[in-house]
Amino acid sequence: MTGALAYFDNNATTRPAPQVVEAMLSCLTRDWGNPSSPHVHGQASRRIVAEARAAVAKLLGAQSVEVVFTSGATEANQTVLEGASARPGSVPLLLLSAVEHAAQLKAARRLAERGRARVELLPVEDRGCVDLQAAAQMIRRGVSLVSVMAANNETGVVQPIAEIAALARDAGAHFHVDATQVAGKLPFDFAHCGADLVSVSAHKLHGPKGIGALLVRKGLVWPPLFSGSQERGRRGGTENLPGIVGFGVAAQLAAERLGEDMLHTSLLRDRLERGLAERLPVRVFGAGARLPNTSMLRVGRLDADLVLKRMEQAGFIAASGSACSSGGSQPSHVLLAMRVDPAEARCALRLSLSRDNTAAQVEALIDHLPALLAAQLAEAA
Ligand code: PMP
Repeated sequence: MTGALAYFDNNATTRPAPQVVEAMLSCLTRDWGNPSSPHVHGQASRRIVAEARAAVAKLLGAQSVEVVFTSGATEANQTVLEGASARPGSVPLLLLSAVEHAAQLKAARRLAERGRARVELLPVEDRGCVDLQAAAQMIRRGVSLVSVMAANNETGVVQPIAEIAALARDAGAHFHVDATQVAGKLPFDFAHCGADLVSVSAHKLHGPKGIGALLVRKGLVWPPLFSGSQERGRRGGTENLPGIVGFGVAAQLAAERLGEDMLHTSLLRDRLERGLAERLPVRVFGAGARLPNTSMLRVGRLDADLVLKRMEQAGFIAASGSACSSGGSQPSHVLLAMRVDPAEARCALRLSLSRDNTAAQVEALIDHLPALLAAQLAEAA
C-alpha cells in the first residue's frame, strides 16, 4: 500500500492474502480451461471450481450444492430482490432493514418505482440493531421476502438473525441474509441460521474483488439474474476461474484462522477505542454485539472528511461510513436510521481492522491522533 503506515479500512476491502495471489496466478498461467469444456483442460478447471466451492461451503456451514458463484455480494443481493419481484401473483411485498447496504436499498427503491414491488423498511433501535417489536408487527402474512444483513458494514452491529428468521418462517416469507461483513469475521452457519438465501463477497476476507456467492437453500428454486447453463442454471456466464480459485483459498484460510483473527482484531479494536477515548472526546456509535474488527466513532464534532484528511497525511487510512457512499456530503443512512443527528453523523469515522493490522499501528494512531487534531479541536472548542 503506497505510502501508508496503517490501513484501517478493511470493511471496504482487504489485502488479498499471498496464498490467494499465488493460487490465482497459477490459475491464469496454467489452469485456464473453461470448466464447461468436456476435454482435459475443462475437466481440470471443473475440479478446481469444485474444490473452491467446497471451501466456501465449509466456511459458511453450507453444502457445496448450495453455493452459487456470482460477481460479488451486490449481484447476489440483487439476484434475491429481482427473484422475489419476479414471482407470479400480485405485486410482492419486500421488507428490508433500514440499514441494509446502500446499493441494496437503491435496488429495492427502483423496483418500487417501477411498480414491481412494494417495499417497507424495518426500523432499527438507537444502538443499531433491528427493532424486534416493530419487526414482529411488520413481518406478516403476505410478505414475500425479508432481507436483513448479518452485521452492518458501517457500525459492525450484529443483527438478531435467528429471531428474524423465526418471524419470517411463521409469516411464510423467504428470508435473505447479507452476510458479507460476517464471513471470515464471526462463525456463520447456513445450515442452522434459518435463512433461505445468503450473500457473501470474497474481497472482504482477503480474497479477490469481483467474486462472491449466493447461498441458496437446497431444494429452493430461485430465478437467475443471468440465464445460462453454468452454476446448474442458477447463474449463467463462463466462470471467473481465477476469482473462484482465489475465493476458495481465502475461504479456507479464513476457516483455519477464524478464532485467531477474531481474537486479534477484537483486542486491537478494543485497545484502539480505549486508547482514543482516554485522550480525545470520542463517541462510539452502535452498541451490543458488534463485529470484532469494526469501530465507528466521532472525535468531538470534527467533520469526518477533515479528520480523514489529517490522518491520511500522517499515513493512517480509514473511512467515513461505507466506501460506496463516502466522498459524498450525505450523512450515513445507517446513522440516520439510528436517529443520530445529521450534523453528528457527518463526523463519523469508520476504523475497520484485519489480521494484517498490528499492535504497533494501533499504538501509533493512539499516539498521533491527538496531536494531528489538536488545532482543529482547539478551534472547535
Ligand atoms: N453488502 C455489504 C454488507 C457490504 O459491505 C458490501 C461491500 N461494501 C456489499 C454488500 C457489496 O459487495 P461487493 O463489493 O462484493 O459487490
